[in-house]
Amino acid sequence: MLYEISEKVIKLENEGKKIIKFNLGDPDQPTPPEVIEAAYEAMKKGKTKYSSAAGEKNLRETLAEIHGVSADNIVITAGSKWAIFASMYLLLKKGENVIVPTPHWTAYDLTAKSFGAEIKILRTELESDWKVDFEKLQKLIDDKTRLIILNNPNNPTSKVMDEKTVEKITNIADEKGITILSDEVYADISFVKTKSVLDISPNHLIVKSFSKTFAMTGWRLGYAIANKELVEKIVKLNQITLTNVPAFIQEGALKALELRHEIIRKIREEYRRRADMACKLLSKTSLKFSKPEAPFYLFPKKEGLDSEKFAFDLLDKGVAIAPGTSFGNYREHFRLALTAPNDEVEQGLKIIAEAFK
Ligand code: PMP
Repeated sequence: MLYEISEKVIKLENEGKKIIKFNLGDPDQPTPPEVIEAAYEAMKKGKTKYSSAAGEKNLRETLAEIHGVSADNIVITAGSKWAIFASMYLLLKKGENVIVPTPHWTAYDLTAKSFGAEIKILRTELESDWKVDFEKLQKLIDDKTRLIILNNPNNPTSKVMDEKTVEKITNIADEKGITILSDEVYADISFVKTKSVLDISPNHLIVKSFSKTFAMTGWRLGYAIANKELVEKIVKLNQITLTNVPAFIQEGALKALELRHEIIRKIREEYRRRADMACKLLSKTSLKFSKPEAPFYLFPKKEGLDSEKFAFDLLDKGVAIAPGTSFGNYREHFRLALTAPNDEVEQGLKIIAEAFK
């Protein structure tokens, strides 16, 4: 459905129509110029050759220092998406299963299904503040369960799991010998403190990305933090597939890390302003939603809504959104990605607010 909407957006734009795009989580902000400059300098200095499948040593060491792990626990990947695919590919076999709290980012189930693994859905609801029911989680676990995927902060709800929940799920996974794949790509820019699985137990793996934190989606740069054995396996997979993330891209990443406090502060504040604006405008409507605790999504609900139909109707009014059915069985919800320029965000939100007066 996300794909169909994107295609329709492209078609309408080609016809000369202006569309406000809330359908994709691709930040409108430019990559910081210092990062672009650093990558360009690296290219000029000849960092344009094949390089390490594990990632550049200095980048791995810098990340290791930031996360308090060893560089051997880090592998640089082409976006966190590759880290997710590679680890699922290595840890899950046909006939085994993975538990995913929903609503969820669709790539998890598409990836699992692509090699015959089953996805077990752990449903959470807006009405219970998206809380995970631990009893339900325990009941879903069987002898074929290999992975639990957590996405904290969550896409599409922008909800951050409280520390106790992260601890409890990690303890359950440790007791049962199940690995957690914790997708923490929004954690560094979240509005509230986000507890990492890594701070609780060394048995699991986390994936992170430069995409959202530094407005670098197109650079394709992410990483996994895992035990040495899994890191080595991902490195081998890199060797036979993408070879390496370009070394000059990694030089840009080093610069981003050097300036991270300043860059993150600016990016986070921008998204916080937009989230506040959205909450203010939408709170005057009949929509129900939880206040975002991280950039940049909202996942409102309207009882009885057919969000797929709504998405197409709204496109005729010049606003693109993602229907809730793209994130599990959430037809009454839709997702807004506040990743358009500020004036467009306000204009688009007003059009949506009008529909739910
Ligand atoms: N995880 C989540 C939850 C996402 O929303 C996305 C991108 N939309 C990714 C991972 C992948 O990001 P990237 O590959 O750009 O790091």
